[in-house]
Amino acid sequence: MSGRKNSNNNRRKKVKPKKRKLNRKKIMLLICFLGLFIFGITKLKPEVSQAIKNKDDKPTATQENIKVEEKQFELSDEKKESLEKKYTILVDPGHGGHDKGTQDGTRKIYEKDVALEIGKKVAAKLSKQSDVQVIISRTEDKFISLDDRVKMANVQNVDALVSIHLNAEGGGSSANGVETYYRTGANDGSDKLANRIQETIASYIAIKDRGTREDIYKVIKDARMPAVLVECGFLTNPKESKKLLSEKYQNQLADGISQGVLSFLDEQSKHTKKLTLYKVSFF
Ligand SMILES: [Zn+2]
Repeated sequence: MSGRKNSNNNRRKKVKPKKRKLNRKKIMLLICFLGLFIFGITKLKPEVSQAIKNKDDKPTATQENIKVEEKQFELSDEKKESLEKKYTILVDPGHGGHDKGTQDGTRKIYEKDVALEIGKKVAAKLSKQSDVQVIISRTEDKFISLDDRVKMANVQNVDALVSIHLNAEGGGSSANGVETYYRTGANDGSDKLANRIQETIASYIAIKDRGTREDIYKVIKDARMPAVLVECGFLTNPKESKKLLSEKYQNQLADGISQGVLSFLDEQSKHTKKLTLYKVSFF
């Protein structure tokens, strides 16, 4: 029994220190946890207090929103400015040099010469617009290949290409009037540009309106922008070729062409602005 008692005592003696050890550990752990907790609270405090502040302080949140909205308006203003950049138009008087183009019945009036006169007038009229920059493919009687004309438009990345030509009736002299061509199957606005030019010419001059047509003329086919070819009249028609030599008539044609280009640009600009506003509403 005594042995048992001893062993019991020993057990008790052994158990008690163990309990104390456990308590110390627990206390140490508790202290550690408390320390960490206090440290954590101290560190998190600014964020927590800020979050609470923001949650409670509604006017601040509203001000934040206003700032964001203001930023959005700044963005749209930037876009607006970029929309007000200068448009670049390539005016392209057809033919030139050894390439005379078509001619009248007396073989004295050449397409290259009349096209150059009308082209220079179109360029001069468009240049008067503060937001339009004009490039002209030639200002004198020199040959320029069709490849080079297309290259000029594509490299300069112009907003529209307007090629000026005169028409001819094979074997006849009665055909008359103005017609404007755009690239076959064009979906880049070339057809609209052709329509505007055709409409304005018809409103400026009493001519036979032959309308707009699709074709695959190289200069409009390979251009990577709205591109048209205006056939300003028939040199093979004696009455029309006489008119086409008149500076007044050339000016009227040039007015019609340049006004058509400008109304096309206005339409494009409005369309782009609408798209921009639509995008902004998604912010
Ligand atoms: Zn031609």
